[in-house]
Amino acid sequence: MVAHHFTIDLEEYFQVSAFASRVARSDWDRFESRVTREVGRLLELLAQHNARATFFVLGWVAQRKVALIRAIALAGHEIASHGWDHARVTDQTRSQFRQSVRRTKDVLEEITGAPVLGFRAPSFSIVPGREWALDILVEEGYRYDSSLFPVRRPGGRYGYPGGLPDPHWLTRDVGPLAEIPPTTLRWCGLRLPAGGGAYFRLLPYGLVHSALRQCERRGVPGTFYIHPWELDPAQPRLGVSWLTRVRHYGGLRRTAQRLDRLLADFRFTAVRDTVAALSAAGLPARHEPAVRSAVA
Ligand SMILES: [Zn+2]
Repeated sequence: MVAHHFTIDLEEYFQVSAFASRVARSDWDRFESRVTREVGRLLELLAQHNARATFFVLGWVAQRKVALIRAIALAGHEIASHGWDHARVTDQTRSQFRQSVRRTKDVLEEITGAPVLGFRAPSFSIVPGREWALDILVEEGYRYDSSLFPVRRPGGRYGYPGGLPDPHWLTRDVGPLAEIPPTTLRWCGLRLPAGGGAYFRLLPYGLVHSALRQCERRGVPGTFYIHPWELDPAQPRLGVSWLTRVRHYGGLRRTAQRLDRLLADFRFTAVRDTVAALSAAGLPARHEPAVRSAVA
């Protein structure tokens, strides 16, 4: 039975990219923090179903919630990086990106004492032309990325249309990096986003269910994602556009119930398990050691 990836982008409800024009980063500390209780509910659900998950954590949150990050790691889940302050890669210089992923990795490793292997860009914002971010991840000691969403989206702020849909190696000049893309659904020759988030809350449950079953038929793990604030119908409402309101606040009341069903229907584990299996199966050819021991 295939174990899929259950992933959480660990951030506060006021830090999502859709609110960035309304909420200044310098004001973040003024908002009520709700992430500890939201994550508590997620940890309960995961424990009830004996599931492991990967938490992509914002450095900004980790610095303020050390006990929470420790509790997640102690419960057997993987701690990975979501960058420092939710800046999209499309809005960063190379050096800003490097500082962000380095600082976040350092803080998380200091808290848990375990190496941070994985990264997911805020809003899946490694898009065509921003591949330098992948090289910086390799150089900064990351082993895998989960940012390339293999769909075409209007506006080009996220989506990597040429990306492969299943876990694979990226062979960068600086070294190998495993890529763990969010799950998509193959439908009538199209590839549709079906990995979680708003697609999970607003569209029929069958969408994510079918996408994960398709992965099983291919014999590969799918990658599901959710945010702590998606389980929090009581979060304070921010004054945003109608469309953002629908996307952010729609379906919040049914998230926990749907997660319970998803966790019952599928087996889930952390991404690090798949990366370990990929590594055991061998690095891509161009990164294998050039000299092999001679066979007698
Ligand atoms: Zn995020």
